Amino acid sequence: MPEIMQKLNCPDCGGPLKVQAGDAIVTCGYCGSDINLAVGSKYFLRHSIIPPKIGPDSIDAIIKGWMGRGFLKPSDLTRKYKVMSKELQILPIFIVHAIAKSSYEGVLTRTGQPVEKKGVLEKEYYWKVLGRRASAFPTREYEVPLAAKTEFEISALVPGAKFLNSELGDEEAVNIAKQEIERHQKFLLEKELDEMSRLDTFIEIKDTEFLHVSAWFVTYEYRGKVYNLILDGATGEDIVAEIPQEEKKGLFGLFGG
Ligand SMILES: [Zn+2]
Repeated sequence: MPEIMQKLNCPDCGGPLKVQAGDAIVTCGYCGSDINLAVGSKYFLRHSIIPPKIGPDSIDAIIKGWMGRGFLKPSDLTRKYKVMSKELQILPIFIVHAIAKSSYEGVLTRTGQPVEKKGVLEKEYYWKVLGRRASAFPTREYEVPLAAKTEFEISALVPGAKFLNSELGDEEAVNIAKQEIERHQKFLLEKELDEMSRLDTFIEIKDTEFLHVSAWFVTYEYRGKVYNLILDGATGEDIVAEIPQEEKKGLFGLFGG
């Protein structure tokens, strides 16, 4: 377990704050206020939560249901799987609302005759940045179940869940979003142009929201191998789903992995 670094109290309610190494924004476990550790004062970012709906009492049934669903799974998976570990994490995510404008000049050569192209690619983004530096959580692919979003409240948490503070402040999160959006704009234009002679991207930040989402991190064993499963703690939908390959019978079985 990570050690508790400092003894600090919440400026709002006076309750002791649980601070772990690397935390940048600490959420008070008593009143739900957010504290910026760098300056020791309160954060005024809008803070929301997608309340977890799947607690320790219902996760086993959700996992079993997932094992039995779909055509791609081995037919004996439901009988043979064994859960090795399961943990409900409450994860911090920043959603950065931005408008990106990339003005570009380049050449299209793939059609034979080079054609000069120039213009502006303008796109609106709600870019997600995970507030943790090391996590197996696939933030880009994750679709936040926004319909369930409410204002952050400690009472929305499930007992036993692992609550994670953000290791990023909002400025750092916005900087990461800007870099990733810029790269994504470039990626989109490189699909359209064969050579780019000029690219200037300007990113306007409209708003940043701080959000906690929940996910069950599960590992299970099947025929001697261990697989990962990450399920949305609010909906039970799979976010990461490692599925065992059905063993090939006959000749291919000799060479197959
Ligand atoms: Zn407090």
